[in-house]
Amino acid sequence: MRRVSVFGSTGSIGVNTLDLLTRQGGAEAYQVVALSGGRNVDLLASQARSLRAELAVTAHEDCLPALRAALHGSSIEAAAGQAALVEAAARPTDWIMSAIVGAAGLAPGFEALRHGTTLALANKESLVTAGPLLLAEAERHGARILPVDSEHSAVFQALVGEEMEAVERIIITASGGAFRDWPLDRLATASVAEASSHPNWAMGQRITIDSASMFNKALEVIETKEYFRVDPEMIEVLVHPESLVHALVGFRDGALMAHLGAPDMRHAIGYALNWPERAELPVARLDLAQIGRLSFRAPDLARFPALRLAREVMEIGGTAGAAFNAAKEAALDAFIDERIGFLDMAHLVERVLAQMSTRQGLGNITVSLDNVMATDAEARALASEFISTGRI
Ligand code: NAD
Ligand code: MG
Repeated sequence: MRRVSVFGSTGSIGVNTLDLLTRQGGAEAYQVVALSGGRNVDLLASQARSLRAELAVTAHEDCLPALRAALHGSSIEAAAGQAALVEAAARPTDWIMSAIVGAAGLAPGFEALRHGTTLALANKESLVTAGPLLLAEAERHGARILPVDSEHSAVFQALVGEEMEAVERIIITASGGAFRDWPLDRLATASVAEASSHPNWAMGQRITIDSASMFNKALEVIETKEYFRVDPEMIEVLVHPESLVHALVGFRDGALMAHLGAPDMRHAIGYALNWPERAELPVARLDLAQIGRLSFRAPDLARFPALRLAREVMEIGGTAGAAFNAAKEAALDAFIDERIGFLDMAHLVERVLAQMSTRQGLGNITVSLDNVMATDAEARALASEFISTGRI
């Protein structure tokens, strides 16, 4: 039986992953090693019971008594905290889903790679903050990273049987998020509720707001560079409001291979779960005659400064990705808490990046786990200093 673990099992990607594991036989077909979540311990415990997991881990130590209580009477182990997450990732598995949100997903995924597993990577922040490190570690230990972000899964699939030397460009699409049609001067007043509703995809709140600001696409541009090891100039973003074409790969003979599918993350998750085979998946089939037409347009850089910042991050190199991501996470926290406005997020990230790249020389810092964590902590501290002193 395949041994599998799911980190972030209580989130949007996690729940979809468990749905597929259950449909593909559940505890009869998989030996579920570890599941992890946050404060939603009742959901975590019920998931662990239904899949007969060996271990359930909550990220928060103060949630451990509640998790223990919820698992009472079962033989499932309970654990809590960041060290427990890393310990869980060290347990032998054949496949791990990395679906914690934010930089917190890096350490468990990194640990899992050191044990030679196949890591299905939804946590794009890992590649943005520590791409070269993850790829080198995977290579060293014979581990494999499979992309789960829909655009990257699409590119990965378009590349099956192809040589990277023949690739001319990679185009990832963006729906444009909640505000793609808003007048620019209204964006400053966008509320958390307005930014938390996506036109096409049902996802966690943080990535939904990041879609409205295009910070999600900015992370994905960097993720593309890191995962496929291509020059930043080869990567393009295309606004495609229908979210049916997920990515396109352009080859030197002029061919453009597009990946289409319904906006349902179970496709990309299922591809990574069953790779290199294709299994039957419960996703809607597209009726193109009924859809009739697809539309595309260039992204508006004035509306979405995050895309310009992603280019700067790739230019700077070193731990700039860690600073960018951490500043973005801090800005997002402040926006959700209504301490700053929607447009302030990009201003804040730009300020943190500018100050740290000159004063700390981010571009010259080696991408090691310690350096990434240190840059992450400094960027968060600087962002909160800027917020509390009103320097946005
Ligand atoms: P989510 O907010 O729905 O779920 C996040 C999960 O991580 C939950 O299980 C939560 O308990 C856990 N978690 C949160 N903070 C944590 C911490 N500090 N330490 C440990 N665990 C923590 O998020 P999601 O939408 O499922 O996204 C998960 C990841 O997948 C993100 O990196 C996101 O960018 C990526 N992703 C998501 C989608 C999507 O459709 N939701 C698509 C592509 C990529
Ligand atoms: Mg995506």
